[in-house]
Amino acid sequence: MAGNWKMCKTPGETRSFLEKFIPAVAGVSDCDIVICPPFVDLPAAVEAARNTNVAIGGQNLHWESKDGAFTGEISGRMLKEAGAQWVIIGHSERRQYFHETDELVYKRTVAALAAGLKPIVCVGEMLKERESGQTHWVLERQFNHGIAKLAPEQFAQIVIAYEPVWAIGTGRTATPDIAADAHRFIRGQAVEKFGSGDVRILYGGSVKPDNIKGLMAQEEIDGVLVGGASLDPDSFATICFASSSSASH
Ligand code: PEP
Repeated sequence: MAGNWKMCKTPGETRSFLEKFIPAVAGVSDCDIVICPPFVDLPAAVEAARNTNVAIGGQNLHWESKDGAFTGEISGRMLKEAGAQWVIIGHSERRQYFHETDELVYKRTVAALAAGLKPIVCVGEMLKERESGQTHWVLERQFNHGIAKLAPEQFAQIVIAYEPVWAIGTGRTATPDIAADAHRFIRGQAVEKFGSGDVRILYGGSVKPDNIKGLMAQEEIDGVLVGGASLDPDSFATICFASSSSASH
């Protein structure tokens, strides 16, 4: 269960969130819980989450491992030393507004793995692509030009997030069946390219406390990547508990 805070919350707000959220999810033991705040919040988040079941991640990283002349960028080893364990790569907002390509997604994934970070690699179609019946074609292209170029041992370490762009931040969640169909297709790509569909696939797009159960009831959906609803400690705790069989909320 991963929370993507996008460009929200200051270090002080991060501490306040985690003061409430960490005790609220202390009983969740059978899934990974990850919060990905803005870079400047990482020290506060890592400190607050130390020795808890909440891990911290970045929202992006540069593809170069070595220090260099890349003003405004952050490398994998910087994230790692700051205490991040995970990193989101290829979020649709980065693809749309910052010209992220499948090739850059691939390069960033390799850099993340080299730094010892666990990548959450995002794929997903735009509304016009879904409406014109191109969803599978887009997912296949994103998979082939990005993820499929990884070595099998690299692929084994990533998590994929299926995030239909039309569902992100719109309140228009994909139905559990639509999400499961896309997950099945992506898993099929994994079987085709790597001979194994053993990869965790998260769904992302307007996940809320009131739709999480229906989504998690789908066998194909292994977890969720949550934007808006991860900003509130109660909402995100409810979402985390929905995937946990070890506790009730
Ligand atoms: C996201 O940012 O990855 C996301 C899915 O956002 P939201 O949950 O707000 O749709």
